Amino acid sequence: MEKLICHDCGKAIQNDEEYMPYKVGSEIYIKCKACHQTDPVLRNFRKTEVYSRVVGYIRPIQQWNKGKRAEFADRKEFIVNQPACC
Ligand SMILES: [Zn+2]
Repeated sequence: MEKLICHDCGKAIQNDEEYMPYKVGSEIYIKCKACHQTDPVLRNFRKTEVYSRVVGYIRPIQQWNKGKRAEFADRKEFIVNQPACC
């Protein structure tokens, strides 16, 4: 059986330990009893959707093809020095 890990504290759930499962779409998240009693609401489980510009259009990176995603990973951010006044 797959090892169950608490979503909040990262602790491994023991065989005889109580836990709370949360089903979100096809994903199942687990909270140990202590974390569930502290906060019964499942938080921070959604993946962040990142948008960026590709060939002139702003699109979610998840919809890009493999080559464009590799190019996005190679991009470097830099800060352009702003003029002191307009
Ligand atoms: Zn926990």
